[in-house]
Amino acid sequence: MSENKYSTIIVGGGIAGLTSAAYLSRAGQKVLLIEKNMECGGLVNSFTRDGFQFDAGVRALEDAGIIFPMLKDLGIQLDVVKSPVSLGIENEIIHIEGQESLLRYSELLLKMFPECKEEIDELIKVIRKIMKHMDVLYGIENPVFKDLKHDRTFIFKKLLPWLPKFIFTVGKINRLNMPVENYLEKFVKNSSLRDIISQHFFRNTPTFFAMSYFSLYLDYFYPRGGVGKLPEALKNKITEWGGEILTNTKITEVIAEKRFLKDHNNITYRYDNLIWAADLKTLYRITETEGLSQNIKALSAETKNKFFKNRGGDSVFSLFVEVDEPPESFRKIAHGHFFYTPSKLGLGEVHRAELDNLILNFDKLRKDQILTWLDKFTRLNTYEISIPGLKDPELVPPGKTGLIISFLAEYDLFNKIREAGWLDEFTSEVENRVLSVISDSVYPMLKDKTIAHFSFTPLSIENRVGSSEGAITGWSFQESMPVINKIQNSGRSVMTPIPSIYQAGQWAYSPAGVPMSILTGKLAADRVLKQMRS
Ligand SMILES: Cc1cc2nc3c(=O)[nH]c(=O)nc-3n(C[C@H](O)[C@H](O)[C@H](O)COP(=O)(O)OP(=O)(O)OC[C@H]3O[C@@H](n4cnc5c(N)ncnc54)[C@H](O)[C@@H]3O)c2cc1C
Repeated sequence: MSENKYSTIIVGGGIAGLTSAAYLSRAGQKVLLIEKNMECGGLVNSFTRDGFQFDAGVRALEDAGIIFPMLKDLGIQLDVVKSPVSLGIENEIIHIEGQESLLRYSELLLKMFPECKEEIDELIKVIRKIMKHMDVLYGIENPVFKDLKHDRTFIFKKLLPWLPKFIFTVGKINRLNMPVENYLEKFVKNSSLRDIISQHFFRNTPTFFAMSYFSLYLDYFYPRGGVGKLPEALKNKITEWGGEILTNTKITEVIAEKRFLKDHNNITYRYDNLIWAADLKTLYRITETEGLSQNIKALSAETKNKFFKNRGGDSVFSLFVEVDEPPESFRKIAHGHFFYTPSKLGLGEVHRAELDNLILNFDKLRKDQILTWLDKFTRLNTYEISIPGLKDPELVPPGKTGLIISFLAEYDLFNKIREAGWLDEFTSEVENRVLSVISDSVYPMLKDKTIAHFSFTPLSIENRVGSSEGAITGWSFQESMPVINKIQNSGRSVMTPIPSIYQAGQWAYSPAGVPMSILTGKLAADRVLKQMRS
């Protein structure tokens, strides 16, 4: 058994862990980042197949006042382009160019639902209000990434004038915390319209988060070379600053009292501080608290209990398609980041009560009944379609285009089907239906020009990044969230009850996508540095 001692060990080489490791190695700490996969990045990752480059996780990035300040602070220059968004329903498509596109969105909805003018007007009013809140929220570079000891211009010209507006806005945001479905029900009586507005959000998404998407559409950018360029840049910085990165290494035990970890080969690593930037159920499953005080053991058991009562949020099914058709043909239809709903009927109960029944009564159902449900689900769903070649032409072979077509998918259904032994068959049924829905509607060229296709299910996500229930943004939205979910308390989100162990990433704060994972990665690094100084 060999031994290695580090001032901080970070487990999980996703975007959160990479951020922590970059900041701590820059501060001169002896840092080790441990990642179970061959490469870092987690859900921020690009890969190549048959000469087509695809993004395995997030399709484009939102700055949210976090990513660019972090890059600047770390001295990283990332070559990026805007990733403009189109929205489409049936055969109507609009392109989001700026705040004024809200008017076009309203016209699009009116065309689809002419009888719902008042409801649509009210909706647009709400979105406009939330966009204003977003302007405040992301109005300055996030102070966490600024040097508040020395950057007096930032403090006096930006931070201090912004703070009262921020405090006022946070109050408003916190009042918009109810599930978006319930909020919309209050003034949108047409259930199809409600679905079209909200069915591509996770179940029970807080209203503010869902309704802020119009602002986020304007914020998306794409690194030339794929989103994987972001983790690659962080990785380079870590090694440049002397941090060590160990890949292909899975941590299987945490011995909290003695402050050491064990990996799958029984190799031990000693730490002064540990940042856990991976699935939190896993942390509590593999942590031995024997030897710690009774009080800490009780707090840790309570947290573990809380985590195990909750589950990961919705997952995603992604279909990757290689097409023998140039990107220009696709550009004529929509931008390279496209939210498309082929039917204005909306999913209704198909992804709620019907799906719940399917899972509950799975053992009593025949395959054909599940496939009949799948027919409806794929026909009525909303798809996020990403075309990397429209953002960076270098990412596809000449004259060809790669598409990533994805939609929210329920982990439990895929799991039941795996247990029943027909996962491969079901996956290919999903792939064929999605291809047929999309080629019958917005991209007819997929019918004859598709060269190859393959997919990742929620189970692939669970398997790849070890994320409970294949979740991509941490915990499901339930009444009692097991972690901090208020922005003003985000500083505490990285604390655990176990001494010298901090948490970061999608499970540390809710909801957390890429920007919040980066923020918690930085906050955890700050806590470690503060603790070392004290
Ligand atoms: C299809 C898709 C679309 C998305 N769209 C958006 C979007 O539009 N906007 C947005 O903000 N976010 C989006 N996200 C979510 C975002 O990508 C994630 O929330 C974020 O990347 C999570 O980063 P993380 O570092 O917390 O976790 P992860 O990326 O899950 O990283 C955790 C890392 O820990 C490693 N690990 C796990 N267990 C161990 C262990 N025992 N030992 C060693 N290593 C371990 C894993 O392999 C992984 O690399 C999307 C994700 C997907 C998949």
